[in-house]
Amino acid sequence: VLIALLMTLLGSVLGPALASAQPAPPAQNYSIATDTTFAPFEFQDETGKLVGIDMDLLAAIAVDQGFDYTVEQVGFDTALQGVTSGQFNGMIAGMSITDERKATFDFSDPYFDSGVQMAILDSNDEIKGYEDLRGKSVAVKNGTEGATFATSIADQYGFTIRSFDDSATMFEEVRTGNSAAAFEDYPVLAYGITQGNGFKTVTEKEAGASYGFAVAKGTNAQLLDQFNTGLENLRANGQYDEILDTYLNADASTADTSIPGLIASSWQLLLKGLWLTIVLTVISIAIALVLGGIFGLFRVSTNIVLRGIGTTYVDIFRGTPLLVQAFFIYFGVPAALNFQMSAFTAGIITLSLNAGAYMAEIVRGGILAVDKGQMEASRSLGISYLKSMRKVVMPQAIRTMIPSYINQFVITLKDTSLLSVIGLAELTQTGRLIIARNFESFNMWLIVGVLYFIIIMALTKLSNRLEKRINK
Ligand code: GLN
Repeated sequence: VLIALLMTLLGSVLGPALASAQPAPPAQNYSIATDTTFAPFEFQDETGKLVGIDMDLLAAIAVDQGFDYTVEQVGFDTALQGVTSGQFNGMIAGMSITDERKATFDFSDPYFDSGVQMAILDSNDEIKGYEDLRGKSVAVKNGTEGATFATSIADQYGFTIRSFDDSATMFEEVRTGNSAAAFEDYPVLAYGITQGNGFKTVTEKEAGASYGFAVAKGTNAQLLDQFNTGLENLRANGQYDEILDTYLNADASTADTSIPGLIASSWQLLLKGLWLTIVLTVISIAIALVLGGIFGLFRVSTNIVLRGIGTTYVDIFRGTPLLVQAFFIYFGVPAALNFQMSAFTAGIITLSLNAGAYMAEIVRGGILAVDKGQMEASRSLGISYLKSMRKVVMPQAIRTMIPSYINQFVITLKDTSLLSVIGLAELTQTGRLIIARNFESFNMWLIVGVLYFIIIMALTKLSNRLEKRINK
């Protein structure tokens, strides 16, 4: 009840503010979820534009059928959850049409034949077949066919499985040598290998399912119809072949992957990611300050009910991981109450509720640090509780609270990186997407790390100045 109350409260505060920033979509604007990166079906090109077979097919079908759509690049597993929970109208993500999935999804006509294959490092001469995986670990991507297949043979061949959220991280796991192999759809492997990702295949591909566009079962029938008709038209007029050709016969990339080269080719994307990180932090901290103030005062209140509310709030948000809160707010709540919420709104709500709980504790600590005699003296002069709080206790409390506030500010800024799980293209997610394209994890994570460091150092310096001024 408390959470629902807080959400409504926050919703009414945030709602109008966000509504003005993001106008309500027209009736036929579908939200379509996709994978973070699944080249050549969906991936970012050098300019940060989302391209690939799925993306181009969708775009051409939308033109053919006259509908608008917004792509949400949330990752495969998240897309599955988001479509079934009603967050998105549909998904296109190199998604295999399987009998199991037909229980929860309605699929379009198949548009591409695929199948799972094992990938190992080009330099690995040890592994020649599944039997050589014994005692090793294998990387898979959550929720995929590749994961299902690997799991089905894991016992037989005696290997263990490690799951990752996106293909880029899964391949990274093999590249570092922590896992011996990855299981992935063969067209994706073939594309990566021509692009020079340093992998090879040694086994045949497994018979696999075809890809289809999907909507949640029993919903969005019109969208599904439009997709099918559009696909048929594209096949008839040659556009379908053209799109496939563009990607399946693409030349190897020749991008410069030195640090200066990476900065030159991705600084615009990185700055965009950094900007979103800052926006998320600033808005969330502002709301958290208010929440913290209110609930912190509740925590030290003489009224038992208020104290109970304050304690419950703090306990819930301090007692659960931020990631779980993000999933709960982004997927759980909209699914239960049957509405849609943007990842941005969900991100802000999660961060502010979370930081608010810690802020409440900071406020409580600050107030308790002020000698009891201060309040007593003030009250004995006939000044009311609230006024004593405001004029006598608070001014002293705030001084001790400032360092902790700055600390929380920095923590919240870093916590924004966790929101990449709900598909927000903040700085960390931006880094991941770029790595998915150029496979340069060391240099890219170094650049991303340095960016966080610089921005946090700058904020810390600024806050210290502010602190000095207030203390004067
Ligand atoms: N085709 C696979 C599946 O549907 C993988 C899709 C993906 O990783 N985007 O499970």
